[in-house]
Amino acid sequence: KTITAEDIKKSVKDNDVRFLRLAFTDINGTSKAVEVPTSQLDKVLTNDIRFDGSSIDGFVRLEESDMVLYPDFSTWAVLPWGDEKGGKIGRLVCSVHKTDGEPFEGDPRNNLKRILKEMNDMGFTDFDIGFEAEFHLFKLGEDGNWTTEVPDHASYFDMTSDDEGARCRRDIVETLESIGFEVEAAHHEVGDGQQEIDFRFDDALTTADRVQTFKMVVREVARKHGLYATFMAKPVEGQAGNGMHTNMSLFKDGKNVFYDKDGEFHLSDTALYFLNGILEHARAITAIGNPTVNSYKRLIPGFEAPVYISWASKNRSPLVRIPDAEEINTRLEMRSADPTANPYLLLAACLSAGLNGIKEAKKPMAPITSNVFEMSEEERAKRGIKPLPSTLHNAVKAFKADPLIQKALGEHLTQSFIDSKNLEWAKYNQSVSDWERDRYMGY
Ligand code: GLN
Ligand code: MG
Ligand code: MG
Ligand code: MG
Repeated sequence: KTITAEDIKKSVKDNDVRFLRLAFTDINGTSKAVEVPTSQLDKVLTNDIRFDGSSIDGFVRLEESDMVLYPDFSTWAVLPWGDEKGGKIGRLVCSVHKTDGEPFEGDPRNNLKRILKEMNDMGFTDFDIGFEAEFHLFKLGEDGNWTTEVPDHASYFDMTSDDEGARCRRDIVETLESIGFEVEAAHHEVGDGQQEIDFRFDDALTTADRVQTFKMVVREVARKHGLYATFMAKPVEGQAGNGMHTNMSLFKDGKNVFYDKDGEFHLSDTALYFLNGILEHARAITAIGNPTVNSYKRLIPGFEAPVYISWASKNRSPLVRIPDAEEINTRLEMRSADPTANPYLLLAACLSAGLNGIKEAKKPMAPITSNVFEMSEEERAKRGIKPLPSTLHNAVKAFKADPLIQKALGEHLTQSFIDSKNLEWAKYNQSVSDWERDRYMGY
């Protein structure tokens, strides 16, 4: 049901909400918020809250840095934790607009809406997304900072129930449910201290909003348990990294157009074309889906993360897997992205690539039936299987060479993304690590 301004006013009263958190997301995928007392509620509900956007990463518009927040009423949530005095905090996800009322092009959420509109113009009604965001829980030190000590040594789907990690995971699930998430699965992952909690798929904008809320809840609840949650891609060398598998399907009037009961793996031609679009633009998408230096330490063989651009139905080594499912659940699972990705940018890039694939109507390469890692180099070359970029630098190069994916971000976001990543890569290049000292000190 749609939520109105009146509904929000009533909820504020009923729940003793004393602060309103107006959330949006910067270029790096970091949640930002302006928090105002409920005395400002009327202004909030009439798009009258302004802020200075000039110090937000990727927002800088020197000529005009005043920005206005337009809350999306459907995202209203009363947060499960309160303010210092026992009142509650209400949260609204906002779009960022310019003072003339136009949507600001540097807002990743506005940009996703723009691409969703292009999808609607092609006759599709929904881009449905299910994310599987993995994360690690580490113990908090006495100083309140993270350590690399884990609260458990369980493994994949272990039934341990009595360690702090499992208790914390259950608390996260219940907290998410209390603010309206439908949690479908929660389990220990392969790595020490590694967890996964999956909530039900929904349309792209809703899911992108939710994953931002999800991360906030995970971090907050972990702290209550004396733990520190991280979504970094590869927190521990030699152990599984954190992925954010992206399950995608496309709907037209309530029907999943990726489904064809007679198609191979139940995939329709539309799904195959979309898939081909993803494969063709995979290298540039990687810059968006794997946007940190550390992301590329996950994309290596041996940890169920993809390295090569290929697809398959059963096998878990390729970039895209087709899970065994029917009708509304028929989907493409892209396995490359990690949870450091900005979800709005990631989905805009994937959708643009897929829609372009539908326009081009080309079938993808044959699915693989064996492990890509075990194929010889020649074998991979013969099948046209190319690698994903091996570093952030190479991924950004691929992004700069892909006009379609740049268009998916629009000029403003493309420029701020490139600027931000160039800076990050330069800083990394200048850094000297323990690994280097260990290896070269004796020279
Ligand atoms: N952790 C793995 C990754 O890096 C995924 C493991 C899984 O969910 N099967 O993507
Ligand atoms: Mg999973
Ligand atoms: Mg997993
Ligand atoms: Mg998965």
